Amino acid sequence: MAKILCVLFDDPIDGYPKNYARDEMPSISHYEGGQSLPNPSSIDFQPGHLLGSVSGELGLRSYLEKLGHKYIVTSDREGSDSIFARELHDAEIIISQPFWPAYLSQERLAQANNLKLVITAGVGSDHIDLSAAVHKKITVAEVTNSNSISVAEHAVMMILSLVRNYIPSYKYVVEGGWNIADCVSRAYDLEGMHVGTLGAGRIGLGILKRLNPFGVKLHYTDKYRLAKETEKELNLTYHENLESLAKAVDVLTINCPLHPETDGIIDEKLLKKMRRGSYIVNTARGKICNQEAIVNALQTEHLAGYAGDVWYPQPAPKNHPWRHMPNHAMTPHISGATLSAQARYAAGVKEILEAWFANKPIRNEYLIVQNGELAGAGAHAYTTKM
Ligand code: NAD
Repeated sequence: MAKILCVLFDDPIDGYPKNYARDEMPSISHYEGGQSLPNPSSIDFQPGHLLGSVSGELGLRSYLEKLGHKYIVTSDREGSDSIFARELHDAEIIISQPFWPAYLSQERLAQANNLKLVITAGVGSDHIDLSAAVHKKITVAEVTNSNSISVAEHAVMMILSLVRNYIPSYKYVVEGGWNIADCVSRAYDLEGMHVGTLGAGRIGLGILKRLNPFGVKLHYTDKYRLAKETEKELNLTYHENLESLAKAVDVLTINCPLHPETDGIIDEKLLKKMRRGSYIVNTARGKICNQEAIVNALQTEHLAGYAGDVWYPQPAPKNHPWRHMPNHAMTPHISGATLSAQARYAAGVKEILEAWFANKPIRNEYLIVQNGELAGAGAHAYTTKM
């Protein structure tokens, strides 16, 4: 019998939903790029229901309990007295979502003597000390692709929201006003702007593809250059490095993982190289941007706007400066947690668990760490500390 410890975000304030906004779920047959959808032998949940909160349990309880495993689900993960900290020592498998991550620092991993598998329900495993996981030969897997387009859509929404000055205009309406001049004094067309992405993997490329019909000029930088046909199809300008990209664009969107190479890479020095009036949209990880440098660039009006849904730490404290800086369009970490995405990553977690308990290989594209080294998607996107 294995003990599986799952950390999920809290239920809605008014309780677990009894009904939903829509009766049907949009359906897709495969991911962009061709990867097949998660294919567990069965699922015990209703796609379209809230699965990522504590009562949703990622739809795994009946499956795990039928096999005789112990399944503990909690949102209580802060401090040494939390349920997460108390249950950690003998858990064999830990599951959490990046939206409400079970932070697994080196110290915490040192306490988890029985831990063999860590699953990210979603994409992005930086809440786990990957160097320590490599060292301890813990397998780390995530549900690659499950929410990439969810995030790409959110980033496009935020780019338009900033450039068109949507959020302040909406606020005027709610407050009973009709302040046309106030609204339009900061509004521009996206058409004709230069938009670039740091990282052109699944999300970055998804954003570029979605923006192509808007009549913008598209740019990117990445450790790996895209195929020539893709560059041609989207009329992309490739930049050898971030500095070159930052100087060339009006809108910078950040879509690389957080790892030693990218931690704090958007700093004061880089921001100064960007054009005055640029916008940044970061749905990757908060720590890729230097917190004070972003606040300062907005206050001095060097940046015209900043949006994103990723913070450090998460949840952001009430006095986090990004809650109160000018011209921002921040949301809590939600872009990859649509009900559509939740159904895919819950099914993906079940697929990973089925493979694990049957001693079968986990799909290579789901792997981040295996057998004491970065593997699969992890070997492509991450680096570890030496
Ligand atoms: P991906 O692995 O498909 O793409 C990441 C790309 O970043 C890769 O092409 C990689 O080569 C590139 N990269 C890595 N280090 C780089 C560097 N130093 N300089 C330039 N490029 C670099 O991953 P993805 O699915 O596109 O996701 C990207 C990131 O987005 C995730 O790691 C995660 O942090 C974040 N994410 C956020 C949410 C959310 O809800 N906000 C959801 C999913 C993923």
